[in-house]
Amino acid sequence: MALIVQKYGGTSVGSVERIQSVSERIISAQQQGHDVVVAVSAMAGETNRLMSLANQISEAPEPRELDMLLSAGEQVSIALLAMSLNQKGVKAISLTADQAGIYTNCTFNDATIEHIETDLITQWVDKGYVVIIAGFQGRDVHGNITTLGRGGSDTTAVALSAALNADECQIFTDVDGIYSSDPRYVSATQRLNEVSFSDMYILAKAGAKVLQEHSVAHAWDEAVTLRVLSSFEDGEGTLICAQPVKSKAVTGLALKQDLLLVESDNLLDSERVELVKRYRVLSERCDCFQIVVPKADFLQLKLAFNTKIRNIRSLSILTLVGDKVEGMAESACNQLMANNVDIYQHNIEPKSVSVIVNQADLELAAEILHKTFVITEQSQDNNLMIAVS
Ligand code: ADP
Ligand code: ASP
Ligand code: MG
Repeated sequence: MALIVQKYGGTSVGSVERIQSVSERIISAQQQGHDVVVAVSAMAGETNRLMSLANQISEAPEPRELDMLLSAGEQVSIALLAMSLNQKGVKAISLTADQAGIYTNCTFNDATIEHIETDLITQWVDKGYVVIIAGFQGRDVHGNITTLGRGGSDTTAVALSAALNADECQIFTDVDGIYSSDPRYVSATQRLNEVSFSDMYILAKAGAKVLQEHSVAHAWDEAVTLRVLSSFEDGEGTLICAQPVKSKAVTGLALKQDLLLVESDNLLDSERVELVKRYRVLSERCDCFQIVVPKADFLQLKLAFNTKIRNIRSLSILTLVGDKVEGMAESACNQLMANNVDIYQHNIEPKSVSVIVNQADLELAAEILHKTFVITEQSQDNNLMIAVS
């Protein structure tokens, strides 16, 4: 008998039918003798819908009120999932993050979980209940509702697993594990059986949104056994762990979209320092400089800097991740340029190489890098394993 924390993302609970199917999966874990605590996201599209309602009222809503609004999506899905389990004869109770004792710092819209008072959760588990907790939300010391940043339910699940000392944290989503790149944009991607915490952290930070970056960092710090699985079909999924059995030269390719090339001039020194601190700089001259800004930040910057900043075009960043990628930077850039992909900047860091390209070139660039570096290297790793075994 184990304690398992399961997390279901938006697509997994995107309709009443999906919620019914998720409750069957929970019941099956319980029938195997496990205690189950569940973190749930808002139904697919709901957080975006709430965000667009807010933006119809204000371009820059007050951060506290935005969290009050956005956290509402998760309250709907936890209640529906608890009802579905109850209706199937299984004892279940839903709890908001406040009720579940999830305390965060006071940073609205991007809060960090500081600690979880687990007493109430444990009491319900001990009574034989499935405890269903709203993902993405927290409360600060003043009793305000906070949210953990987009994709934050992953972090709720990992933090719950650490606080409850769970045997495994299972992230159920719409893909059956971590792939060598985003299967939505790249062909011939391969599912990975295991990925190290360090590679997964770099992939998530570089845009592989299958796991929120903070959730990976937290799991790594707290040695949480973390697995990504499909809520649509059975399977082993991908284990994220400290030391995978096979080490890979190249683990994967992450894609980051929704970025803007923003140009600015006539900035005060203090304004320039602020932007340089927050964003990647593409070019800097005394009169004008260019930075890469997430689309979601642009409205706020426009309000703050007005005509001093301009949106020039949409960009994407592709990042190769793995133990041996650093030496591949030059060849990666050459391959892309040979295929007429313009590169704005490339960057080499430990275990990663990234290139910035036009958004319009994203899919072509991703296919080239994945085919040339990821698949080739992984096939070689596989051949090596066959040769050795
Ligand atoms: P959820 O709603 O369950 O939290 P997300 O949409 O946040 O799901 O994350 C799952 C999506 O992540 C997949 O549908 C896929 O398009 C994307 N993704 C990006 N990179 C990867 C990757 N390397 N492996 C698997 N999925 C990835
Ligand atoms: N509902 C939130 C979002 O859409 C949190 C999550 O899905 O993890 O970002
Ligand atoms: Mg997600």
